[in-house]
Amino acid sequence: MEVLTIEKAVNLLLQKVDQIRETERVVLWDAAGRVLAEDVYACHDQPPFPRSPLDGYAVKSEDIQNASKENPVRLTVLGEVDAGHVCGHTVSSGTGVRIMTGAPIPEGADCVIRQEDTDYGEDMVEIYKAVGSYENYCFAGEDYKAGTKIMAKDIRLGAVEAGVLASLGLQDVSVYRRPRAAVITTGDEIILPGEPLEGGKIYDSNLYTLVTRLTSLGIEVTCKKRIGDDAARAAEMIREAEGDADLVITTGGVSVGKKDIMHEVLEILPAERIFWRIAIKPGMPTLCGQYKGKLLICLSGNPYGAAVNLELLVRPLLAKMSGRKDLELQRVKAISESAFPKKSMATRYVRARYADGKVRIPDGSNDSGILSSMCGCNCLIELPAGTSGLEKGDEIWAVLL
Ligand code: AMP
Ligand code: MG
Repeated sequence: MEVLTIEKAVNLLLQKVDQIRETERVVLWDAAGRVLAEDVYACHDQPPFPRSPLDGYAVKSEDIQNASKENPVRLTVLGEVDAGHVCGHTVSSGTGVRIMTGAPIPEGADCVIRQEDTDYGEDMVEIYKAVGSYENYCFAGEDYKAGTKIMAKDIRLGAVEAGVLASLGLQDVSVYRRPRAAVITTGDEIILPGEPLEGGKIYDSNLYTLVTRLTSLGIEVTCKKRIGDDAARAAEMIREAEGDADLVITTGGVSVGKKDIMHEVLEILPAERIFWRIAIKPGMPTLCGQYKGKLLICLSGNPYGAAVNLELLVRPLLAKMSGRKDLELQRVKAISESAFPKKSMATRYVRARYADGKVRIPDGSNDSGILSSMCGCNCLIELPAGTSGLEKGDEIWAVLL
């Protein structure tokens, strides 16, 4: 049986998922990170009225054309307008209105003179400087005009977008539903944190790595469960999880041992087998199937293998399903500051830290069963199949995590 390259494996799976087009409304507080599902138009000008950018006096520019410190212009102060209030006065020749930053510029005025260029007068004010027409004058709609398309659908919302939507007066917004994933870990030896560590057992790290990673990528995790090496039970759990999820991810039991139950689970379900094995290290025995139209991705139980395959295999699918370009894998060229002497038969991924165009491999093993040396790593060095090893100073490609 042909062992697929990671590129072929990803492409095969990509053909089996679609972008999720179901929408939901979320309050603006929860909008960041979501993908906008509607074009948004301005329903009013922003700002809705001409406003003052500073504290001073709203006047007619023609009145103060010749004003100077030596020859001040004296104007009658009609009143005061503060931010949040409207002014009943109309400025006519020889008059002005005391105005604060953010307040609407009264009718008749075409500029604002800053208070530092006046005597701060209350009933009468002396103006010491000339300003031109529409100087210190923010026009209504200078940010955006009513009717303008402010945001196009399919963009990813962030903090600034939330602020702009709020400036429109919106409280909620239509976004695409996020992909939903179920995570199930398998293994008789696997126990959950909180349970006593008895002979032959180890704590479940995969459940935490996978669920936490998915959540941090903005994916909704609908099921997080651990079960023993029981094919019938695993099939039952996948059937239950499938209802709420777009994608089911399992770990463990995909190799060739007696207890590698996932092959049997596919038969029990029954699920169509898409492929088994990818020519990569770690995570070679990955098994993928389709059950009721949904992908079933069975990753190796080895913690590093599971973590790497979540990035290389699952992330591109999530990018397509969620319509989020930012989830697509990004590769950068970098210079290795570390050596890695092992030969690579299949494409090998070595955990590393990337910064400023350089990568450094942490101390500790890169073996697929070792997770702790991955702490603090932010990339995977990609060593093509056939590479005899890596020397310090070599140029490499790194996949950013
Ligand atoms: P398997 O893929 O089931 O053959 O497991 C490969 C190795 O990964 C074994 O040493 C398992 O004990 C270990 N392993 C499997 N599942 C987990 C898990 N959820 N957390 C930590 N280690 C695991
Ligand atoms: Mg196992």
